[in-house]
Amino acid sequence: MICIPVMDPTHREALRSAQKSASLADLIELRMDWIADGDVSELIRAARRASASVKIIVTCRRREESELAREGLEALSVKERTNAAKMKLLREAVVSGADFIDIELAEGTRAVSRMRALCHSRPNPARLIVSWHDPYKTPSLASLKKIFEACARAGADIVKIVSYARSLSDNAAVLNLIDYAKHQGREIIAMCMGEKGRISRVLAPSRGSYLGFAVLPGGRASAPGQLTLREMRTFQKLLRPHRPSVEPQQNQLHFVLLGNPVRQSLSPLMHQAAFRTMGIDASYSAFCIADPAGAVSGIRAMNIRGASVTIPFKTAVMEYLDDIDADAASVGAVNTIVNDCGRLIGHNTDWLGLMAALKEKTQIRGRRFVILGAGGTARAAAYGIRKEGGRPVFVNRTPEKGMALAMQFGCPFYPLAQISKIKAFGLINTTPVGMFPDIQKSPVPPSVLANYRVVADVVYNPLKTKLLRDAEAKGCKVIPGLEMFVRQGAEQLMLWTGRAAPLAVMRNAVRERLMQHES
Ligand code: NAP
Repeated sequence: MICIPVMDPTHREALRSAQKSASLADLIELRMDWIADGDVSELIRAARRASASVKIIVTCRRREESELAREGLEALSVKERTNAAKMKLLREAVVSGADFIDIELAEGTRAVSRMRALCHSRPNPARLIVSWHDPYKTPSLASLKKIFEACARAGADIVKIVSYARSLSDNAAVLNLIDYAKHQGREIIAMCMGEKGRISRVLAPSRGSYLGFAVLPGGRASAPGQLTLREMRTFQKLLRPHRPSVEPQQNQLHFVLLGNPVRQSLSPLMHQAAFRTMGIDASYSAFCIADPAGAVSGIRAMNIRGASVTIPFKTAVMEYLDDIDADAASVGAVNTIVNDCGRLIGHNTDWLGLMAALKEKTQIRGRRFVILGAGGTARAAAYGIRKEGGRPVFVNRTPEKGMALAMQFGCPFYPLAQISKIKAFGLINTTPVGMFPDIQKSPVPPSVLANYRVVADVVYNPLKTKLLRDAEAKGCKVIPGLEMFVRQGAEQLMLWTGRAAPLAVMRNAVRERLMQHES
């Protein structure tokens, strides 16, 4: 995602820049330390009028951490706000609906945790960016990791670390820090300032940095070395992940499913049908395993081209892979392995499959979705809903697990016992309740379903669960688990072969088998 900083010296000029930038970028950052007479509420309203989907960060940078500190900010006659005025302004930004608040670690853990509590108390919570800047140098990777941990401990939803590159190797430290954060499933924004740091600005977003900064043509750079919007977009296109392409004439390729149990899985049936239709000579076999490390060694030794990973190894397998794609790292689970010339890369297509199934039936942006459950699939659902601009709310049987997840995602949580009090646009069941043979069970009583317009179930056996039958009776639009299942499989095929999968063939193969099972 690309963010344009708005840092004009007057409110009038900032209003114009905010509107223009909002219509062009994914995010804008209102740099209130620059906009001397800026009215943050009015700036937020103006940006929202220009674009309903733009995300807004509000920042009031400390002078000593400012990117221009090394270049003599005084010369620019920007008046620094007092600490009390700064905190008041950030509170006003939260109340006015900013999506992100940036606060420096240097403000102290009390100030940060107060700001976090305020951000998370809103019905549509703002996410807290805890930031740290060094405008003079880049510390060693070991020191950067310590700073990252301090920001995370202070309560960051997203950690931001920006340093000054004195040499090209400084870029490597910051890029490696991004890998470190992503392996822990944490969001990070990281890059180097300065001419020698430009390479990190190009590479950081494709490496997993939550966003990269760009300037509008003719606009003011918020930091030395920043690229223009056009340059950033060009690099983003060029750096899109490589997708291997498979020609039908190649020797037989081998794919596997790793899980325990796997006997009931319909993935082999679905993928074999797809490979046949695509004209790819490939085998796909299920393996019930006990040891993910051994299974990953087997993939390497036998040159298996790709693998699906299912319960209970979606998280455990991650440590044995060579790289984890940024989305999978954020979800915290891998359901797909791609063998890219000997390098095993972990991906997650569960969230993509669920979002594709939802988007087929409804809009997600701006809408609240209750997610039942707090396991791996709930994480994938929340990540996808967020990414699509929706608002996840967790509901779970075990409050501690639900609350921990809600904290991580910075969204509300309710215990399952209180579900009747919630009203939202959609409900997504990510628990196994209602799955064969317990087909008369539903995770919620029918009466609560009147509180939703759309109900999705990830359970696909039976084809229509009791939850979906009850929801239909209440007039809801329903999305069966089969739709998520075939779409996550289609995304796997795209990763393995670089080609679009035959969705209808895959759906029919699975549906027929389930119908035989049900009759
Ligand atoms: P998981 O990590 O074990 O999490 C399951 C969650 O369900 C937990 O939060 C658990 O609550 C909750 N739960 C279990 N039994 C419950 C009950 N009787 N009442 C209320 N809550 C209950 O599992 P997962 O990996 O997320 O998978 C969940 C389901 O998604 C599985 O059925 C899986 O087959 C399905 N799935 C479908 C697709 C698809 O393509 N359609 C893809 C992936 C997964 P507690 O926290 O209280 O234990």
